[in-house]
Amino acid sequence: MPGVAHIIAVASGKGGVGKSTTTANIALGMKANGLRVGVLDADIYGPSVPRLFGVSGRPEQVEGRILKPLEAHGIKVMSIGFMVEEDTPMIWRGPMVMSALTQMLREVAWGELDALVVDMPPGTGDAQLTMAQQVPLSGAVIVSTPQDLALIDARKGLNMFRRVDVPVLGIVENMSYFVAPDTGKRYDIFGHGGARAEAERLDIPFLGEVPLDMDIRINSDNGTPIVVADPDGAHAAVYRDIAAKVWAEVSRPLGEVRRAAPAIVFD
Ligand code: ADP
Repeated sequence: MPGVAHIIAVASGKGGVGKSTTTANIALGMKANGLRVGVLDADIYGPSVPRLFGVSGRPEQVEGRILKPLEAHGIKVMSIGFMVEEDTPMIWRGPMVMSALTQMLREVAWGELDALVVDMPPGTGDAQLTMAQQVPLSGAVIVSTPQDLALIDARKGLNMFRRVDVPVLGIVENMSYFVAPDTGKRYDIFGHGGARAEAERLDIPFLGEVPLDMDIRINSDNGTPIVVADPDGAHAAVYRDIAAKVWAEVSRPLGEVRRAAPAIVFD
């Protein structure tokens, strides 16, 4: 990909764990850290980028088949959601999904980017494999909730990247805990620490804990993810820190071998 220094996939083993929310806030965290960033919404069947970034409208055709990405909060964004209505189901078979993905990646005028962050579809199907195999990914970030079930699914996602030799940059624990806004009492709704323990067990970086918080949800729905809605708040700081760790992992000096994806051992 000429002009794009690093393509970083954000993946989860299953839907609903906050992968898209995490993608948007990591991308905006990278932008806040001074990088030139783009976001590609590869979740063909459930595109969230238009809503998360509060953008809609058809991308302009610049030359031939090349599309101009839309822009929001200083980030270039592309999503299949810009091409179809929000309530239109994508009744596409694998090959169509794959050609749409390739097109959104290669036939878009991304320009000069330090990082293109890809919101992967959940799971480990056709589309995920296409992305992992045919796209020169610098690495993948895995998002999981703390509970075992999500981690089992997360391990599958992780394993897929390992099979196709894409380095796993680390794990983010989303919905890590909840602090009641009225009493300040903390609740570990989905358990706590499962993702950190898993990262340690597999010897891959643990990137951070993001709490379950109403402000994160509300601002995502409003099209202004928390990193831009409340840049001085604690959540934005967490995401910027995660973004910095991801960037440190992908931009290790050439020649220094990046940590290979781990071997998965099942107890
Ligand atoms: P996925 O991409 O894994 O399907 P989403 O990012 O769409 O998940 O998140 C699912 C729902 O959970 C959304 O309504 C989102 O706003 C909400 N959500 C995600 N992460 C958090 C969080 N840390 N705190 C509160 N709500 C969250």
